[in-house]
Amino acid sequence: PGRLWVVATPIGNLGDLSTRARDTLRAVGVVAAEDTRHSAPLLAHAGSRARTLALHEHNEREQAARIVEHLCAGIDVALISDAGTPLVSDPGFRLVRAAREAGCEVSPVPGPCAAIAALSAAGLPSDRFVFEGFLPAKAAARHERLQALAAETRTLIFYESSHRILESLEAAVEVFGAQRAAVLARELTKLFETIIAAPLGEIASRVAADANQQRGEFVLLISGAEGDAADATLAEGRRVFALLREELP
Ligand code: SAM
Repeated sequence: PGRLWVVATPIGNLGDLSTRARDTLRAVGVVAAEDTRHSAPLLAHAGSRARTLALHEHNEREQAARIVEHLCAGIDVALISDAGTPLVSDPGFRLVRAAREAGCEVSPVPGPCAAIAALSAAGLPSDRFVFEGFLPAKAAARHERLQALAAETRTLIFYESSHRILESLEAAVEVFGAQRAAVLARELTKLFETIIAAPLGEIASRVAADANQQRGEFVLLISGAEGDAADATLAEGRRVFALLREELP
C-alpha cells in the first residue's frame, strides 16, 4: 500500500517549507488539502503536480474513505492544511486513524506549528505546557473553560483569531488576574510579527488601544499558576466549602 505523509507547511513564511516537505509534495500522487485553492500557490512553489483533493471539517469522513482507497491502491498521499502542522487545530485526525486502521503506514514530515513557534520564543516555562487550541466562541462557555484552568500550573497555550482576540484577553484577565505573566505572539514569521511579553492586564490594554494589534493571527500563552497560587486557590475552595457545610442542614 501507499504511505500517508502528514506534511507541515509554513505558517506565513514560505522560506519555512522544508526540503523534505517540498520533496514529499513533489513525489506523492495525491495531495489532500484543507482548501485546494488556498494551497495552490504553495504547491506551485514546491513544484508539485500532484492531484489535489479537498479534505476539511465537513467532508473528512467521506474523503478519508476515498483517500484510504488510494493508499490501498499503492498511491502515496500527502496531507496538508492551510498552514502549519495538520491535526493541530486542523483536520486530519479521522484520516490518520482510518489509514492506520486500514494497515497503511503514516509518517510525519515535521515543520512549522504556531503553538510551538510561539512557545520557543516566549520565555515562559516550557518544560510542561498545555495546548488548549481555540477557546469556545460563546462568552459563558469561554469563561467556564478558562475557569477550569485557573489553578493549572503548566504554561497554557491558546489559538485566537482577530475577531475574538480582545474578548479573549479580557476574559483571561477576569479569570487569571491582570498580574499573571503572559505572551501574545502575533503574525509569527510574517512581516508584522509582534511578540508582547507582559502581565495579562497590560497586554489587554495595549491591544485594546491599538487597532493594528488586533489584526492577524495570534497565539496567547499564559504562565501557569505559581505552586503557591494554586495552593491558595485550593485552600480558599476548602474554606468556602467548610463554611457552606456549616450552613447546610
Ligand atoms: N495547524 C496550525 C499550526 O500548526 O499552528 C494551526 C491552524 S489553526 C486553524 C489557525 C490558528 O493558528 C490561528 O488562528 C492562530 O491562532 C494560529 N496561527 C497560525 N499561524 C500563525 C502565525 N503566523 N502567527 C500566530 N498565530 C498563528
